[in-house]
Amino acid sequence: MDPAAVERTVIPHSEYLTHAKVVTASAVGVDDSVVLTSVGRAVAYDFLVIATGRMCNRPEKREDRLRMFEHDKVRIAAAESVLIVGGGPIGVELAAEIVMGSPDKRVTIVHGGPRLLMVMGEKASAKALEWLRSKNVTVLLDQTVDLDAGSGVSPDDKVFTTSAGETVTADCHFVCTGRPVASGWLRESFLGDHVDGDGRLAVDEHLRVGRLRNVFAIGDITDVPEAKQGYLAQRHAMVVSRNLRLLVKGGDGSSREHKLHLYKASKAAITVTLGRRDALSELPFMTVIGHLPGAVKPRDLFISRTRRMMGLKLSARHDQSMFRI
Ligand SMILES: Cc1cc2nc3c(=O)[nH]c(=O)nc-3n(C[C@H](O)[C@H](O)[C@H](O)COP(=O)(O)OP(=O)(O)OC[C@H]3O[C@@H](n4cnc5c(N)ncnc54)[C@H](O)[C@@H]3O)c2cc1C
Repeated sequence: MDPAAVERTVIPHSEYLTHAKVVTASAVGVDDSVVLTSVGRAVAYDFLVIATGRMCNRPEKREDRLRMFEHDKVRIAAAESVLIVGGGPIGVELAAEIVMGSPDKRVTIVHGGPRLLMVMGEKASAKALEWLRSKNVTVLLDQTVDLDAGSGVSPDDKVFTTSAGETVTADCHFVCTGRPVASGWLRESFLGDHVDGDGRLAVDEHLRVGRLRNVFAIGDITDVPEAKQGYLAQRHAMVVSRNLRLLVKGGDGSSREHKLHLYKASKAAITVTLGRRDALSELPFMTVIGHLPGAVKPRDLFISRTRRMMGLKLSARHDQSMFRI
């Protein structure tokens, strides 16, 4: 991804949450009226919306995040061969981006499942596999790389052995195996009974946790039976913000209950970008690959639309000239 685009995606919360108080810390505990944070601060609440999504080990500071992107870009540029561990949407998108930008690089995907893109249907998996192989990407299915035991422990490792005993040499590697749901901090709390075996929070049709009057959850942490997608997380947020407005307004309890907005799980259309021009789209009625779906997903990956929605200027305000092309 080009550095100017990256700059536009890393947005400090304070830039768009202009009327909110932002506490930069992890929530480490919660009871029925207070959230405890990792900096020792207790934040009291009347209403709580849990949106901790997935665990994240990215650097906290904007400059450090931009530096991380730049560092990965340099690693890829310098590599003749790249190993990608994990063939979900992220692994496939990364492989496609690399081979479309530099067709001479040797890219290998090692994927633990029987087919790529298991969040999509079999047709999509087959099309992705065919597309990648046509670009000379090596795809090893039903194999894993144990990154904790030997190869892959250090970013400088270059020789990797798969669970089937195959050896892959690569100048650099990326782990794209997905991140666990960030609900560990809730397990021992009064909400612990609502965390399911996969770590997701059980929500009702109003996106409330355990039918509690004042606790909601949105986004990837919920057990809503649908693909975990950013645009669906935004829809959850819309429903919950309307419900909060209703509840804050007050009035007779039972009539408010009846007015609460409902969230209905959607059959999400999933699009995986394949470099700058192509994409693979799974729609409710068909699965398509190539320039056509590539033209539907904007070249800037919805960054402009998202910035507009947040009330931000289309370009990043910060002067980060070192990252400009
Ligand atoms: C590489 C990638 C590409 C994607 N592409 C698309 C796409 O093209 N289209 C699409 O619709 N979706 C896409 N998705 C999915 C989309 O990003 C997620 O569905 C969306 O981000 C979910 O939002 P969320 O707010 O629920 O969780 P997250 O985005 O995971 O955000 C949760 C935040 O909470 C923080 N957090 C976690 N635990 C705590 C804690 N205890 N205390 C305080 N903070 C905490 C995390 O650090 C994180 O910042 C993509 C995902 C990835 C990883």
